[in-house]
Amino acid sequence: MLVIASKNPGKIKEIQEILKPFHFKIVGLEDIGFMEEIVEDGETLLENALIKIRAIEKFLDEKEIDASILSDDTGLFVDALNGEPGVYSARYGGEDGNDLLNRQKLLKELEGEENRQASFKTIMVLYFKGKEHVFTGECVGEISKEEKGQGGFGYDSIFYIPDKEMTMAEMGDVEKNKISHRKKALEEIAKFLERKE
Ligand code: IMP
Repeated sequence: MLVIASKNPGKIKEIQEILKPFHFKIVGLEDIGFMEEIVEDGETLLENALIKIRAIEKFLDEKEIDASILSDDTGLFVDALNGEPGVYSARYGGEDGNDLLNRQKLLKELEGEENRQASFKTIMVLYFKGKEHVFTGECVGEISKEEKGQGGFGYDSIFYIPDKEMTMAEMGDVEKNKISHRKKALEEIAKFLERKE
């Protein structure tokens, strides 16, 4: 069994799709009865991913459940802002998880700025057979000057991919999941699991 350190059904489904060939039973936190709120107060993406892994490891030990665990943490790193909002991306606008406030704050911070380069970075930690393994994925793009597109979530409607001439919110899930930071990290995990099989 592989426990995904998330309660987000969209994220769990995306991971299930990509890791389908590996015959794990893939479940989310609610499926194993994990109801605690994990405080992600690390100073890096890796610290946050490890905080989640360790909280779940402890829970599984106590319940004597034998399972692997996968946790991830993502941030948007903007060049002209010295990498901000980075690890604080989820609460950049002042309220944890308020996507609209986050986007508005970022557009305001970049007003009049010509350098719009930015990248999403994802860290994933896989706890597998008693060991922690770290994987990364990155997607490079630009912060647009205004919102565009209705799909996606988070910063998608202001994250522009020059090659596609679209924001991530204009792309649709299938297209986005081909190039996303999470997809790239998951591909690394798939390669790792292939070597272990
Ligand atoms: P989390 O680590 O997945 O919780 O993401 C941290 C922050 O980055 C949240 O504000 C998310 O909305 C945002 N985020 C993560 N992945 C994406 C993405 O693929 N597109 C847009 N925003 C994202």
